[in-house]
Amino acid sequence: MSQTFQNIKGTFDILPDPYTDDGGTRIAPSAEWRYVEATVRDVMARYNFDEIRTPILEPTALVARGVGEATDIVQKEMFAFERSDTQYVLRPEITAPVVRSYLQHHLDQRGGVQKLFYIGPCFRAEQPQKGRYRQFHQFGVEVLGTDDARADAETVAVMMAIYDELGIKDTRLRMNTLGTPDRREEYVHALREYLEPYADELSETSRRRLKRNPLRVLDTKLDHEQAILQDAPQLIDYVSDESRAHYDRVQRFLADLGVSYVEDPHLVRGLDYYTETTFELESPDLGAQSALAGGGRYDRLAEVLGSEEPVPAIGFAAGMERLFLALDAAEAERPGLPAPDVFIAALGEEAEQWVFRTTQELRAAGLHVALDLKGRSLKAQMREANRQEADYTLIIGGNELEAEEATVKEMESGEQEDVPFAELSTVLLDKCRTEHE
Ligand code: AMP
Repeated sequence: MSQTFQNIKGTFDILPDPYTDDGGTRIAPSAEWRYVEATVRDVMARYNFDEIRTPILEPTALVARGVGEATDIVQKEMFAFERSDTQYVLRPEITAPVVRSYLQHHLDQRGGVQKLFYIGPCFRAEQPQKGRYRQFHQFGVEVLGTDDARADAETVAVMMAIYDELGIKDTRLRMNTLGTPDRREEYVHALREYLEPYADELSETSRRRLKRNPLRVLDTKLDHEQAILQDAPQLIDYVSDESRAHYDRVQRFLADLGVSYVEDPHLVRGLDYYTETTFELESPDLGAQSALAGGGRYDRLAEVLGSEEPVPAIGFAAGMERLFLALDAAEAERPGLPAPDVFIAALGEEAEQWVFRTTQELRAAGLHVALDLKGRSLKAQMREANRQEADYTLIIGGNELEAEEATVKEMESGEQEDVPFAELSTVLLDKCRTEHE
């Protein structure tokens, strides 16, 4: 019995044409992925970021330490395995790998601040749903080697510029400062004292968080818990004067750049190596998975990963799949599927040979040329030319070979022009260049 296969749950194929997956989500075609990736690269270049590419496979211990033992990712979402005594993990995010690479290759010795960007797949064993996959794609930046507030503002600015460039305007940027770990500890203490009398009113999740990591109670989406939190102590009242001054500078630079945001005192991250500025970009169009991107300072991470010196740094990470959902919601302009400049149909064996050879010449000249590879009838070939939406078609048969001249037909207008074989590539290039302008 023959058996075919399906892709793994929580992963998806990117095809030449768009399609709708089982959950009703439109999966963009490869041309749109290329367009979005090219836009990301273009904006990154304008903001003077260099690309870094790290392996998909990383040591499990790097992720355990870099992402944090206590996180959901490390506790239950890693695709990790052992082989010949080596522990591998499919990277669930790209910040820890970039910091590993920075330390390993002494990138600080390149001089100045390292401004790095990445694009690539990540893996988390989460419950798949709309906007949540097991293999998904992130792009992001890491700015390493500076604690200057301008680095924070520039990180936020480059992120916003990408969505802006793609026509995604309906977003909400939330910002907060986490201060330094010592002050945060005092705050956590105060928050716990405030929340404990309400413990019976909290959900089971929040009660558990109250015990293990009270900061995460602030993440709650439940109305009655948010009401309880209304009068809770605020982190901003606990941060040091230096942290406050840093945050004020970040805000001034963002104002200079015209970036708008709302301050959200409940936006927090649980791990100690996160410091100072933190932010999240949301889209109202994404439903439950509303986060398009998130980021912040992580001035202590390099030390957690073994560096003797602190490496102050800030970055953001954004999800591609959610960006596509936002693109759809915004009905933002995207390039169409790439269509051939020319389709050359052949009639008869001699013509097939000529077409095969000429196709090669035209392609070498820079044209996007399609031809039949199945020996189909002329009618079927023309149907194919239409399906592929070729701009021009040529039909080559015995008469054309004899006259050494082809009729070039513009498909949209139906206009025809006889062109000598010797001038074919020049004329076609000329026509197609005008077409693309
Ligand atoms: P994080 O590394 O968890 O801060 O995630 C950064 C961004 O990646 C999020 O804002 C999402 O846009 C995206 N993301 C995270 N996890 C997933 C997932 N499982 N599927 C799709 N996108 C994700």
